[in-house]
Amino acid sequence: MKEAYIYNKLENKVVRCNACFRKCIIPEGKLGFCMVKKNIDGKLYSLVYGKLVAENLDPIEKKPLFHFWPGSTAYSIATVGCNYRCQFCCNWDISQEREIIGSNRTPEDVVDQARKYRATAISYTYTEPTINIEFAYDTSKIASQYGIKNTFVTNGSMSVEAIDLISKYLDAATVDFKGNANKNFYLKRMTVPGVDHIFEGLLALKEKKVHIEITNLVVPKEGDFMEDLRALAKWIVDNLGPDVPFHVLRFFPNYLMNDVPPTPVETIEKSIKLAKDFGLRYVYAGNLPGHESENTYCPKCGTLLIERNGFFVTKVNLTKDNKCPKCGEKIPILGEAKISSFSLFNL
Ligand code: SF4
Ligand code: SF4
Repeated sequence: MKEAYIYNKLENKVVRCNACFRKCIIPEGKLGFCMVKKNIDGKLYSLVYGKLVAENLDPIEKKPLFHFWPGSTAYSIATVGCNYRCQFCCNWDISQEREIIGSNRTPEDVVDQARKYRATAISYTYTEPTINIEFAYDTSKIASQYGIKNTFVTNGSMSVEAIDLISKYLDAATVDFKGNANKNFYLKRMTVPGVDHIFEGLLALKEKKVHIEITNLVVPKEGDFMEDLRALAKWIVDNLGPDVPFHVLRFFPNYLMNDVPPTPVETIEKSIKLAKDFGLRYVYAGNLPGHESENTYCPKCGTLLIERNGFFVTKVNLTKDNKCPKCGEKIPILGEAKISSFSLFNL
């Protein structure tokens, strides 16, 4: 247990948590919406500090991060709980777990493991890392002293206060949209009122110069597909610029949405085309291993620059300073791209 880093004390031992967009007002003895923050005697505590339910060495492409040290690895950790209730969550067994379970780890333990595996980054992932910002902050602070990068895979719910805090040590964030950011979809399928907080968070991350990649889970037959996707792509181009990598993810039936079929491949291809038509220059297919849209192509001359298969980089064709070898176009990639080392993973 650890006292929370971002909260206010109100009257009568009531507290307000400011870690995520929900800003829960929590009376004494009660939990926040995420069920992992508790008001004990007028102070707010994280119940999941150092309680890890997942620890894996992942390819960085699994986050997905395609323009951030391509071909490297991320030591990936998670705790139970989430501030969303997605009916399609593929990690529902830990995100919706109500019992505080997990192995006891310190921030130093996590950094030691990342160093042991020579991971380029530590990734706070699988469930929403914002609700455990205390552990992420302490771990990322130590990791940065060893030159290890820190990345969040987030549903975009971080408050501006949380971004102010973590951005000192946060190098990259994968921000996930679902259902083309359709408001009705968020309310009906995720118990989330609105999406404005995600856009506010993206602007704050940009301001703090955190590398951003965006995903969008395309769920069949939900929302006004084309209009919503157009609006999302336009917002990204207008506010973050055309070079932000945009990953269009295929939906598979899961959890409470087992009756909905997988997104047709043609829908993913149509979405990719539409996002490119709206000016996004690096648009990728997700959950479609082997599809040509997993690769990075030069947006100017079309040369294949990075070939991928699923989460793995299989070929690199870039100059040392990340330019297209054919036309010299500068490609916005951080770090050196390399072919994935398959021997690191349990395949
Ligand atoms: S992290 Fe979010 S959901 Fe959890 S208590 Fe704080 S404001 Fe509420
Ligand atoms: S935000 Fe992510 S982890 Fe949380 S319930 Fe939704 S899909 Fe699961």
